[in-house]
Amino acid sequence: MKDNEIKKDRQKMSPTKAILLSMLFGLVVGLILHYTLPEGSYIKDKVLINGLFYLLGTGFVRLLQMLVVPLVFFSIASGVMQMRDISQFGRVAVRTLLLYAFTTAVAVAIALLMGKVFNPGVGMNLSTAEIVLDPEKVAEAPSLIETLVQIIPKNPIGAMANGEMLQIIFWSFMTGAVIGTNPLELDLLEKIISQGNDFMMKVTSVVMKVAPIGVFALIARTFTEIGLSIVGPLLTFIVAVLVAMIILVVIIYIPLISISSKASPKQFFKKVFPVYTFAFSSASSNATIPLTLASCDSMGVPREISSFTIPLGATINMNGTAIYQGCAVIFIANAYGIPLTTGNLITVILTAVLASVGTAGVPGAGMIMLSMVLASIGLPVEGVALIMSIERIVDMFRTAFNVTGDVVATFVSANKEGLVDRERYLSDEKPKVMDDIN
Ligand code: ASP
Repeated sequence: MKDNEIKKDRQKMSPTKAILLSMLFGLVVGLILHYTLPEGSYIKDKVLINGLFYLLGTGFVRLLQMLVVPLVFFSIASGVMQMRDISQFGRVAVRTLLLYAFTTAVAVAIALLMGKVFNPGVGMNLSTAEIVLDPEKVAEAPSLIETLVQIIPKNPIGAMANGEMLQIIFWSFMTGAVIGTNPLELDLLEKIISQGNDFMMKVTSVVMKVAPIGVFALIARTFTEIGLSIVGPLLTFIVAVLVAMIILVVIIYIPLISISSKASPKQFFKKVFPVYTFAFSSASSNATIPLTLASCDSMGVPREISSFTIPLGATINMNGTAIYQGCAVIFIANAYGIPLTTGNLITVILTAVLASVGTAGVPGAGMIMLSMVLASIGLPVEGVALIMSIERIVDMFRTAFNVTGDVVATFVSANKEGLVDRERYLSDEKPKVMDDIN
């Protein structure tokens, strides 16, 4: 009996541990390969970086991406279909949206402050732009009206085919609402949607079986390619970003989580931690959605809420990206010796919140949107090139942070309405889809 319990306990520990170990292993292997194999060698470039590691790593990310559209569709449609109290859902949705905007704005403000404290880029004395960035790459902020109109898909199948997340959310919501209000006539569709939902959960579990291999390959690939040396000159920038993230956790996330749940925030982080490993290695909030949803389940947040707020957050809520953009603004202004006014800083906060809405949850999107933030206050857009070498590393951190922000806002809003299953939150349950790993 005792043996059984210990065995059970070990099994419970294993998924997160397995992923963590494979990340660590990937880091060590990557660094060894980076420093032992000659630059540009056939084995390093063709066999590993663009061969084996690419196959296993990108293959895994594609498996995750493969899940996203059907998972979001079935998950939202079945959640909305079963919804009893639409006004309660409305309140949670509005509160989550407000929290998304609020936390992102605070995130940029803290980042600007940390930029000022650490002053990355000072002394680089770049007065003229030596590196030219394609002006076509400068992202422009779409107008609010246009953004709203674009939420309605002209063709739901097209929206799904193109992975247009907001349009998919809109269509899935309508599907669930119409079926939910006509359960007798549409009973077959109701069954299809709810089985589709179960089916996607099972497919997710199957994909998770190869997670440790995928995560290993992603991390090993990154570090075989870039090593650690590129971090050197940009270390202050990275430190400013990480410190800003820690401050946001301490002054905003932890109080919000503790007050709304009336419990230790430790529990929250235990349940969200497994998701980090995926966000970190894939650098894509979108690809991480299946895991993020599972993490919300393990916290006792009902799917009716999370299936809507999580894909939405992966699309429009980017606190990590906002922090990166705030620090980058200070870095680039310092590098070019351009003083920033208070008006400039306020503009940065507003534009970064908008940029966050416009940033897709895919690798590197935040860097493209940075050009919009820089352009908004007349900073040289080609400055983006100065931080390109550390892009992947910073992207890993900001994605993990973006995902945390989505879960925090979802958890807090659901708690406020008393919708969180407290017993489940306080239990040791880990995100379900990871149970099958190992
Ligand atoms: N990679 C980030 C994400 O998926 C977006 C970014 O590039 O900042 O959340």
